[in-house]
Amino acid sequence: MLNDIEIAKKTKLRKINDIAKELKIDEQFIHQCGHHIAKISHHYLRELNQKENGKLILVTAINPTPAGEGKTTTSIGLSMAINKLGKKSIVTLREPSLGPVMGIKGGAAGGGYSQVLPMEDINLHFTGDIHAVTTAHNLVSAVIDAHIKYGNELNIDETRIFWKRAMDMNDRALRQIVISLGGRANGYPREDGFVITAASEIMAVLCLAEDIPDLKRRLQNIVIARNIKGKPITIGDLKIEGALAVVLKDALNPNLVQTIEGTPAFIHGGPFANIAHGTNSLISTKMALKISDYVVTESGFGADLGAEKFLDFVSPAAGFKPNVIVLVATIRALKYNGKAKELDKEDMDALRNGIVNLRIHIENLQKFGIPIVVALNKFDTDTDTEIKYVVDFVENMNTPIAINNAYYEGSNGALELAQKVINAAEKDSELTTIYNWHDPLEVKIMKLAKEIYRAKHVDYELSARNKIKFFKKFGYDHLPVIVAKTQYSISDDPKKLGAPSNYNFTIRDFELSAGAGFIVALAGEIMRMPGLPKISNAVHLDIDAKGNITGLS
Ligand code: ADP
Ligand code: MG
Repeated sequence: MLNDIEIAKKTKLRKINDIAKELKIDEQFIHQCGHHIAKISHHYLRELNQKENGKLILVTAINPTPAGEGKTTTSIGLSMAINKLGKKSIVTLREPSLGPVMGIKGGAAGGGYSQVLPMEDINLHFTGDIHAVTTAHNLVSAVIDAHIKYGNELNIDETRIFWKRAMDMNDRALRQIVISLGGRANGYPREDGFVITAASEIMAVLCLAEDIPDLKRRLQNIVIARNIKGKPITIGDLKIEGALAVVLKDALNPNLVQTIEGTPAFIHGGPFANIAHGTNSLISTKMALKISDYVVTESGFGADLGAEKFLDFVSPAAGFKPNVIVLVATIRALKYNGKAKELDKEDMDALRNGIVNLRIHIENLQKFGIPIVVALNKFDTDTDTEIKYVVDFVENMNTPIAINNAYYEGSNGALELAQKVINAAEKDSELTTIYNWHDPLEVKIMKLAKEIYRAKHVDYELSARNKIKFFKKFGYDHLPVIVAKTQYSISDDPKKLGAPSNYNFTIRDFELSAGAGFIVALAGEIMRMPGLPKISNAVHLDIDAKGNITGLS
């Protein structure tokens, strides 16, 4: 089979203007960026106010192998297949970050015959949204240090500046650094560090904002430091939310592109799914809901992270709810959860051990009250015996399952899945969240720990207990909670595969994302600035004199 960029290069792209016209987007709101990418003004959403929403389909997954299990690939294939069945569907996804593109994981524009295009633009600088977030983020950093140099009127405690610098690259050398060396003219030396741009609170804010006033309000509320008396200092105190909104004004507009089969896709925003909510911008999902019948959207990492956040935080914040949840499983990941030594070989023992992970996620998702369809993302190493075992297991749980072969066959490989999703979307459902926003912080966490992570008890380390007091004192404890933990297990320990239960879940610390509107509970070490591997994708990437790129997947 050809590799991703070879398949992409063989595809004749449609003019983006034609796709926008098919969606009946009013021309005045379309800003073309070349022939194949357009930004759609966020103001267009207001025009659509009176229109009914289409159905929302949330794509999530079981706990993965380190390579990822195909949520993006399944989302794209499913949306293409729904279109093929004669309904209008848009897939809405996050923008890939350059760090992973150069690192191990590679691009995030799908794969095989289930891609969004032009993948070389989407995976690289695209429309510059991520760069705009980087710039806005670093403007805050520059203003903080200038403020301190020129007298520190706000009495910022230099040992308690939480706001780091940001860059869209995997560069571990910048995790912890000392800045302002070289004498008085360069400011006062202090410890600092970089986060990858996807981990910036500004990215989360951009993806949650409804419009420019809401963007400014959220930016204003971001807490960057504490003063010498311990009081939170915000971006509002620095009076730069206006400048930040200027830097972000185009980044707020959703990017319209196409799938490999010429159907529409919005690729917009890219927050992490551990320290943030992990899904594309609300503006793009809301717009897609107004202009199509079925919107397929992906949430990051496994169902214990991305889907839980989508259901407990994003949906109530946005005022919508999914009509169907698609749970992506792969035989590889199930065997990985069953401690298989080799994922490419048939291993029924490992599969029997690992399938508990699928059971747990089905049971967890059932608690939210939304119909579930399992998508078994097929790899060519899967055997018929393995596939039959998984299908029987899921059907015995009274849950529909379909094989997804979109990676190899495009929409034709996802028609059965699409039909089952459409059928499930017809059912009436009510979203039941695991916790209420107004529950006390410890109650919210206890409910998640018991219902989703299957723990028996929650331990809080000292710094976490101190933060709870701080949140209560300054009125932040009503905020919803975003748990940052490993993606490899439903627990807080990446080595606890399968279906751990009856263990102690530990909250090490908390962070405040008051602009985004949540409290981050840190359960374990969370990487905010990844590093490159020994042999990175950068070694494989190349471009020739004609501009043909190779080595991108
Ligand atoms: P996720 O969104 O869950 O991280 P992706 O859809 O990005 O996963 O897929 C992860 C990687 O696996 C990508 O490189 C993709 O091309 C590849 N992939 C996905 N599905 C298949 C499949 N069925 N067979 C082979 N490779 C696949
Ligand atoms: Mg993905």
